Amino acid sequence: MTKASSLITISGLVQGVGFRPAVYRIACELGIKGWVKNTNENVIICATGDPAQIEKLTQRIRIEHPPAAVIESIREEPAALTEVQDFHIASSQSTSSGITRISPDISVCGDCLNDQKNQQHRLNYPLINCTNCGPRFSIIKSLPYDRSQTTMTGFDMCTQCRQEYRDSGNRRFHAQPVACNQCGPGYLMHYQEEKITSIQEIISKTAGLVDNGGIAALKGTGGYNLICNAFDPHPVEKLRTLKNRDHKPFALMGRSSELIKKYACLNDQEMQLLNSWQRPIVLLEEKQKIGEGINPGLDKIGILLPCMPFHFQLFEYLKTDLIVFTSGNLSDEPVTISDSQALKLFLPGTDAVISYNREIHNRVDDSVVFVSNGKNRFIRRSRGYAPSPVKVDFNCEGIIGAGAELASTFAIGKEREAILSQHTGDLKNPETLEFYEESLNRFGKLFRFRPKLIACDLHPDYLSSRFAESTGLPLIKIQHHHAHIASVMAEHRLEKEVIGISLDGTGLGDDGHIWGGEFLICDLKNYERINHYEYRPLPGGDKAIKEPWRNALGLLSHFFGAQWDRFDIPFIHFIKRQPNYELLLQAIGKKINCPLTSSAGRLFDAVAALLMICPVAGHHAQAPMLLEAKLYPEIKEEYSFAIKSPVELKPMITDLLGDIEKKKDLGFIITRFHNTIVSLNFAIACRIRKERGINRVVLSGGVFQNRYILDKTENRLNENGFETYSNQQVPVNDAGISLGQLAIAACRIKK
Ligand code: ZN
Ligand code: ZN
Ligand code: FE
Repeated sequence: MTKASSLITISGLVQGVGFRPAVYRIACELGIKGWVKNTNENVIICATGDPAQIEKLTQRIRIEHPPAAVIESIREEPAALTEVQDFHIASSQSTSSGITRISPDISVCGDCLNDQKNQQHRLNYPLINCTNCGPRFSIIKSLPYDRSQTTMTGFDMCTQCRQEYRDSGNRRFHAQPVACNQCGPGYLMHYQEEKITSIQEIISKTAGLVDNGGIAALKGTGGYNLICNAFDPHPVEKLRTLKNRDHKPFALMGRSSELIKKYACLNDQEMQLLNSWQRPIVLLEEKQKIGEGINPGLDKIGILLPCMPFHFQLFEYLKTDLIVFTSGNLSDEPVTISDSQALKLFLPGTDAVISYNREIHNRVDDSVVFVSNGKNRFIRRSRGYAPSPVKVDFNCEGIIGAGAELASTFAIGKEREAILSQHTGDLKNPETLEFYEESLNRFGKLFRFRPKLIACDLHPDYLSSRFAESTGLPLIKIQHHHAHIASVMAEHRLEKEVIGISLDGTGLGDDGHIWGGEFLICDLKNYERINHYEYRPLPGGDKAIKEPWRNALGLLSHFFGAQWDRFDIPFIHFIKRQPNYELLLQAIGKKINCPLTSSAGRLFDAVAALLMICPVAGHHAQAPMLLEAKLYPEIKEEYSFAIKSPVELKPMITDLLGDIEKKKDLGFIITRFHNTIVSLNFAIACRIRKERGINRVVLSGGVFQNRYILDKTENRLNENGFETYSNQQVPVNDAGISLGQLAIAACRIKK
């Protein structure tokens, strides 16, 4: 038999996911000799044997690779014939500053759940893992990915674990966090002055207290969570007080997807997403009200399935099928990862704090995803997804996108990949800023990143912009909405000019006003503002975001002047009860502290206030979310509008106020309003296509988190021959801005 040798290079997400053991198994089955090893860029296989078998090797790798692995390319080249006796896993090689891959955290696999019931040394072991599952990014301190570089470093493997770790035929071969009851980290429960370490006792006590109306703080993969029975209004209420969270919806964890079907509508794609190894929180249409306190006034519910072994064990004991599963933080601070801080924060207000002594190094919140028009869309991209790169079509080496402010992430560029940070939160919070800076530092080290340029938002007061200035790196400032559109272009590898529709909350414009209802023509370098919603005053600036009634008053005063109160609607009576409304009207008249805005997000806020649905907001997205919950998809009516530049809003608002005076149904008014926004998008896109011959439309900005607006706009455009694009790999909200900034900066400096 003629033998040949081949060198096979496989790139993609192929490390820390059980790739080499899989290669080993297949090679042995095919009688191939040689070795497989990790470099910090990819996996290399040296294969010697029958050429037909070698071909089968690559074929089988493509099909039989571990579930969390992503193969991007397999390159095969002939090599000098080498004589080896066996196939083995060679030691890792750290060679270049090329792209390194770090696996996101992977939810526990079925084999491990099985082992937990059968393997003597891992019976009920709550931190069981293998090469196919377990913590990754959250425990990595440095690369290459070896146990000594993770927070498992303090735990010496017992003889049995070491044997498995060294046995290339074993599912735990080179599983860095491998552990068992003998040698691994364990759980600890602080409960009624007691410290409990027996896992059986911890689980039964936790289940008991949750079923009986208690609240527990439970350490998760990337941070603490707070849990309680979702069907019991008392702990839910108490949790709101504890978290200082008035109206934001709580996420839930459900026993199984079958069970979730009872309470929420679930299509195949949502089912798949719920069960994926990333285990995100999936936003679903609620079928049956679970509890008014969970998602007050809303019709969507965020649910995830158990992802850690402990969660599965807990559900074996729990009577309730659904628990609240919300991040363990107070108000807007980053989620707690430190055990001592968790005790300080949560022991006083909850019934138990349950931790384990494996440290979380990198904080990762639960990700939040929804499905619309058959595509996955991120609200928050964190656990299970970070730090997977976004592949782009340009070289972005050395560039940092600093992000925005409210939902901040940063992005760093490595060759043709953009690596976005996990969700960090609202940068206005000092703790969040600290987390942001620390993460950027860590990403720099992990990915061997050498910064040469930083791109930030035009807004000088965003802390991300100030941070960018403070780095001393060459700086490029990028308009917020251009960055939104560019984030989509980068994802979909679009280069040529597109029609960009950015319907958003706020973003500073070139003219110093607050933009957010923007129709642009742009490529990755420049943009032209073709049209926008007309400017209205935003009395009090940021205060008008928290209190939409101010915003609505600004709108009335802008459109109707002294006759602002000519409508006989409850909102006007409400305004007249506000002690300071006359002062506010004067301020609007004199243009004192009244920035002008074209924001679409603020228009939704104002409408929610005019309808008295949300005159004062508990959180920044509350008003539009409450509106969305009241839609009637079967209603086709809209309000009148004419396409002018800028877009006139007065006809629509006048009609809308007339509907309120006529005491029309709220849902009817809200649906007409939404339909008008969709028709505006469509009509303006048509006009731009006619004038400029551009057929591609890109949709981005926070307003497109509204599924109705996104779906209807996309469908309407697609049905009329447009090509539409929107965010699928990064959030459509400000957490996607960093990618857009990086893309624009990379293209501007390209020679
Ligand atoms: Zn496993
Ligand atoms: Zn062990
Ligand atoms: Fe934005």
